[in-house]
Amino acid sequence: QPVVEVVDIAKTYAGAGGVPALDGVSVAFARGTFCAVMGPSGSGKSTLLHCAAGLDRPDRGDVRLGGEDIGRLKEPALTRARRRRVGFVFQSYNLMDSLTVWQNVLLPRKLAGDRPDKAWAREVIARVGLSGREHDRPGQLSGGQRQRVALARALAARPEVIFADEPTGALDLSTGREVLTLLREAVDDFGTSVVMVTHDPASAAWADRVVFLADGRIVSELGYPTSEQIA
Ligand code: ADP
Ligand code: ADP
Repeated sequence: QPVVEVVDIAKTYAGAGGVPALDGVSVAFARGTFCAVMGPSGSGKSTLLHCAAGLDRPDRGDVRLGGEDIGRLKEPALTRARRRRVGFVFQSYNLMDSLTVWQNVLLPRKLAGDRPDKAWAREVIARVGLSGREHDRPGQLSGGQRQRVALARALAARPEVIFADEPTGALDLSTGREVLTLLREAVDDFGTSVVMVTHDPASAAWADRVVFLADGRIVSELGYPTSEQIA
């Protein structure tokens, strides 16, 4: 069973002149894999990610998250499902600046009403190379360190899937590679599923599979791509 599946979803934003952002997209993301979603700016990548993650609702079509049909859920059940099943890593980190690294990492489980797993939180903070920085606040950290906090925060809640929207978009090349390495390790070592939106072929090369969008439709898919195929 896929960790995330969308079936024939479509969405047109108000004020977009009737031009659909998504126009009949079906895709299933396999559990324990790293999948990249690529495509030009405006092709619908973020809209697909937001719909798949339960952050936004498509106009039609089904969204299944961990086997659960989230289209049928009303708030606050949708929020609960998202908090229980999904982790997020955004280009702009989206950390709470007033909280410490430790508090940020423990926050999702708190919000979900679960008891924090402190041993696991310590392990993921170590894994992203931030042991000893638990009492720092995001403002004291570099961009790469902040993104590693965001990744630790996502991992700490043991989500079924991590959605990453241009996770290296604000980082320099080598710092970006460190973050991609950690996402890859999360899949290989922890069995996490990752769905990553990127416009960067070098970033997509870390994924097991690449789905290409154009004008709100899937135009091609590659499994285990070679760099020639995605160039
Ligand atoms: P991508 O992530 O590939 O750049 P998006 O999903 O952000 O693409 O956008 C797809 C299309 O939907 C674009 O034409 C964009 O301008 C439009 N769009 C995205 N968000 C909104 C919004 N909130 N309101 C109106 N149009 C939007
Ligand atoms: P370069 O242009 O230096 O080859 P890349 O971004 O293609 O840069 O790759 C950077 C490093 O990441 C290389 O050492 C490459 O072997 C490694 N790499 C690329 N894709 C993957 C992947 N899917 N899994 C593991 N390592 C990868």
